[in-house]
Amino acid sequence: MALVVLYNKKGKKFLVDNQKDFHSDQGLIKKENLKDSGLVKTHTGKKFFLFKPSFIDLFKKIKRGPQILTQKDIGYIIAKTGINKKSVCLDAGTGSGALTFSLSNISKKVYSYEIREDFYKLAQENKEFLQLKNVSLKNRDIYQGIDEEGLDLITLDLPDPHKVLSHAQKALKTGGFLVAYLPQVSQVSTFVKKLKKTSFLQLETTELIKRNWHIDNQRSRPKSRMIAHTAFLTFARKIE
Ligand code: SAH
Repeated sequence: MALVVLYNKKGKKFLVDNQKDFHSDQGLIKKENLKDSGLVKTHTGKKFFLFKPSFIDLFKKIKRGPQILTQKDIGYIIAKTGINKKSVCLDAGTGSGALTFSLSNISKKVYSYEIREDFYKLAQENKEFLQLKNVSLKNRDIYQGIDEEGLDLITLDLPDPHKVLSHAQKALKTGGFLVAYLPQVSQVSTFVKKLKKTSFLQLETTELIKRNWHIDNQRSRPKSRMIAHTAFLTFARKIE
């Protein structure tokens, strides 16, 4: 089976198996015509654009367990910490793996800890679907400790990130980043209070708000609905 991406003229995207005919309300495309990138037409003459999926096309199809990090938050973590193909990262809890896999797409290696066996198995399935070779998933409680050392980045999306501070201090290299993703400001206060008692440098706590717009012939205005809140991101850095 090979997956291919099909876009219709309105920008609706389909990820389809090119070993099977594609059926849609806009007509049928025979599997023989799902091989080469470019313009393809259904039997009723409707246009579709075909190409091989990139990471993000497959990523959008991963199975969801707990709430995943949004792209706006993932993007800022990557920009703010500057991780790249030389970086070794650790993410916890894995959940569905959205952050783990996004980090793995641009870094050298990602370790990811998940306490729940069902989510660990779900993330394993997603890892296989994405065919990622540089991800090591572990079914374990990060509050009990971290095996790895010399890490460039630790990201924490779990309720009590302060319970990871002493482990992170040992596991990060000097100059490494620690990021906590917390939905409630009360959790941020607790985390920062504990962070201040360590030698971590407290960098910033921020909230990113993304507003999409309608831009077409009739409208050029913000959309009425938006995701008003995801979480606060708190950044710290190991300096000694
Ligand atoms: N960032 C993930 C979503 C994580 S949801 C994504 O983008 O897909 C939070 C996860 O943390 C849950 O799956 C939960 O089971 C896990 N978790 C909670 N406490 C944990 C702990 N002590 N160690 C490891 N995982 C933990």
